[in-house]
Amino acid sequence: MNILVINAGSSSLKYQLFDMETETVLAKGLCERIGLDGHLKHTPLGNGKPVFDEDVALKDHSVAIQAVIDKLVSEEYGVVGSMAEIDAVGHRVVHGGESFNESTLITDEVLKAIEDCIPLAPLHNPANITGIKACQEVMGPDVPQIAVFDTAFHQTMPEKAFMYPIPYEYYREDKIRRYGFHGTSHRYVAARAAELIGKPAEELKLISCHMGNGSSICAVDGGKSVDTSMGFTPLAGLPMGTRCGDIDAGIMEYIMNKYDMGIGEMMTVLNKKSGMVGISERSSDFRDLIDASAEGSHKSGLALDMFCYDVAKTIGSYVVALGGVDAIIFTAGVGENSRPVRNGVCKYLSAIGADMDPEKNSACKGECDIATDDSKVRLWVIPTNEELVIARDTKAIAEK
Ligand code: ADP
Repeated sequence: MNILVINAGSSSLKYQLFDMETETVLAKGLCERIGLDGHLKHTPLGNGKPVFDEDVALKDHSVAIQAVIDKLVSEEYGVVGSMAEIDAVGHRVVHGGESFNESTLITDEVLKAIEDCIPLAPLHNPANITGIKACQEVMGPDVPQIAVFDTAFHQTMPEKAFMYPIPYEYYREDKIRRYGFHGTSHRYVAARAAELIGKPAEELKLISCHMGNGSSICAVDGGKSVDTSMGFTPLAGLPMGTRCGDIDAGIMEYIMNKYDMGIGEMMTVLNKKSGMVGISERSSDFRDLIDASAEGSHKSGLALDMFCYDVAKTIGSYVVALGGVDAIIFTAGVGENSRPVRNGVCKYLSAIGADMDPEKNSACKGECDIATDDSKVRLWVIPTNEELVIARDTKAIAEK
């Protein structure tokens, strides 16, 4: 069975085609500048065919999907014989609200429910819906389309963790609550950690740290999310590349009054000009900050310190929430690759019985346990694979 995984943004579309017999990626690629001019990079894997990397006119998402399928089946760049060899499509959908606690086959009613979540994710859900509709149009009604939600994994959080202490009517009337994001990633690494540790997920208390451009931490008890650092929106929790994370809400009123700023401009400051780039006044990219800090930039070092400190504090609070922890997992761009950041976080963790082995941290490539042999808490680095989760869910649902 071949599964196409689609992650549609407002002007971009990422894809991977999986052969699910072997769970290998046959081809992957990226459409960019959809609706503007258009560029397609298509990479066939493992069959010796060349990469296609050129400007192509992509006036909308349907044209982009058609261009992707043309490449997947083409003589020169292709990996399958015809579109009929694509058995189902899995779509990443950012927000499923309270309607979806698991992946689901997309029907008219499901599409309507995803549309109903647009107010909760005004930037993401419309793009995801456009991707779904484009696939339905190009591939026809007989190819099952499945939605996999970033929020679904966190629907197991208890009320005390997901409610905000604001008037209850905002939950009742407006569904304002903590939803959490990166659920597909947290779910993957938590399940993988259980395999690597060699214990059933039901018996483990885990803390998953997804640290990338956007970052979130998740407390996983017995395989279920019980708390997470992102909230009603992905602006909450840790300081991130360009997002502020948790701040005193009173700051907004103060800045808006003092600088005569509207809410739109204020949100741009908090979403795009804060976090690592805001503090360092240099870059949102952790690699740049590590280099700059090594060259003596105080503010770059401060931004990194603030990030590591907040990650560690959140881990500490989740140890209390979980009543203990068996393993802490680091994943995503920074968690998988940045030894200095893992080091910066782990220096706080002796207090909870987690001791990092600096040599294991330096030598780590791919999946590895970087805790000392006698550390009470294991420290795993596990590369995330959201696309594989989407492909697996899609296969399971399409087969039903
Ligand atoms: P997202 O999917 O949220 O856009 P990623 O998970 O791809 O983000 O993470 C991107 C971040 O990972 C960037 O800030 C980048 O600096 C960081 N990163 C990638 N490789 C390294 C590395 N070798 N060392 C430090 N940071 C890295």
